Amino acid sequence: ALVNDVHLDALSEDTIVWKHTTSGHYTAASAYKAQFLGLVLSPMDQMVWKTWAPPKAKFFTWLAIQDRIWTADRLQKCGWPNCGLCTLCKREQESGPHLFFKCRFTIRLWNLVIAKFGLHHMDTSMWHLESSVKEWWTNRTSAGVPNRKAMASLTMLVSWTIWNERNARVF
Ligand SMILES: [Zn+2]
Repeated sequence: ALVNDVHLDALSEDTIVWKHTTSGHYTAASAYKAQFLGLVLSPMDQMVWKTWAPPKAKFFTWLAIQDRIWTADRLQKCGWPNCGLCTLCKREQESGPHLFFKCRFTIRLWNLVIAKFGLHHMDTSMWHLESSVKEWWTNRTSAGVPNRKAMASLTMLVSWTIWNERNARVF
C-alpha cells in the first residue's frame, strides 16, 4: 500500500523520497500517521472501499475484481448448472468481462450514463480490448482519471445495477 506515496527518483539510484516527514526520511511514526490521514490507500481501497456506495455493492465489487462472482463460465468449469448465455443479450457466453464491459446491453447503459453526466473522457469503443474485470476496473479508476473517487463509485453502481438486472433474469 505504501508504494503509492513513495516516489522513486530514476536519476538518483535507490533513493526514495518520503513526503510525510519534512526531512523526507521514512519513519514508522510518519507512516502510521499517513495511514490515519488517509493518504496511503491500496488500489483495492481506491477501487472499492473508499467509494460512495452501499456495503453490499462494495462487497460485490471486491469479489468481481478478483473474478470470484458466479458467472456462467465459472459455474460451467465446476460442472454446475448455469444460465449459459448472457441473460442480457442472449448471444454470448456469460463471463465477468462480458457482463461488465463487453455486452451490448452493458455498453448501451454505459453510453447513456456517459451522456447524462457529460463524461466525455470515457470511450466505451475500446473496452473490448481489455481482458479482465480487474484490468477494466483499474483503468476506469486509475490515478489519471478525473474525479477518481466519483468514477470509482459510478463504475461500482453501474456494474452493481447490471449484476442485479442479471440476477433478476436468472432467478
Ligand atoms: Zn451479453
